[in-house]
Amino acid sequence: MAGIVLGKVAFVTGAASGIGKATCQILAREGAKVIAADRNLIGAKETAASLKNQNDHLGVLVNVNEKETIQDALEKTVEKYREPPSVIVNCAGITRDNFLLKLSEADFNEVIDVNLKGTFLIIQTFANALVDRGIRNGSIVNISSIVGKYGNLGQCNYAASKAGVELLTKTASKEFGKFGIRCNTVLPGFIKTPMTEIIPDKVKSKVISTISIGRFGNVEEVAEVICFLSSDKSSFINGASIEVTGGM
Ligand code: NAD
Repeated sequence: MAGIVLGKVAFVTGAASGIGKATCQILAREGAKVIAADRNLIGAKETAASLKNQNDHLGVLVNVNEKETIQDALEKTVEKYREPPSVIVNCAGITRDNFLLKLSEADFNEVIDVNLKGTFLIIQTFANALVDRGIRNGSIVNISSIVGKYGNLGQCNYAASKAGVELLTKTASKEFGKFGIRCNTVLPGFIKTPMTEIIPDKVKSKVISTISIGRFGNVEEVAEVICFLSSDKSSFINGASIEVTGGM
């Protein structure tokens, strides 16, 4: 079987749903061995079981803002594959929307904790595992959002967390180049997933009127870009931010 990530071991967070789940499917289609990681363990296991060559894949529990669960997930991965993953995709993310004047401190903190600190903790743990073993040719792909570039009504916490992810990524790309690990960001626009299902129809129509292609994106349209960045096809792309918005 040929494939652009053939034989690579890939760790994907947020794998139980939406973009993370589609990323697992595309990576597996392209020949990767996939660790589907999510705080929803049942969902992570379902994703892993849905992939071609089921036994090549693994579903694990991870809570990206809890270091112990990340360490545990890394250990389970090394146990099965005898090496840490060289592809790491940070898809786990949440929203807790409210207007800034009304947003609770708890909702502000939770979004920063999962989206920004969670991405940091995953990168630190998994990149250290690669560096310690001298494994080169790694690729880390972080999911930010177009909202992290321009802001959005009711999403100051989310926008700040995603802007943070973009610059965290650029900094990592500068630090990790010498270790042979690339680090890039994908900035999706509005994509059809459970996260955007809750947007009221009136707001959806308004958003669509700002998208040149005239519709929300599909998860596969983001996952294909993630897979490309995970592969050696993108070997000279490092510290980049790629918008997948249909033109906004
Ligand atoms: P989704 O809600 O469908 O999936 C998110 C997944 O992350 C879920 O399976 C959830 O269980 C998991 N998750 C949440 N918190 C976690 C934690 N602490 N630890 C581990 N797993 C956790 O969302 P989606 O739309 O597929 O979003 C995926 C990523 O893409 C997110 O980072 C999101 O911010 C980003 N994004 C989405 C859109 C969009 O329009 N859907 C646009 C831009 C960016």
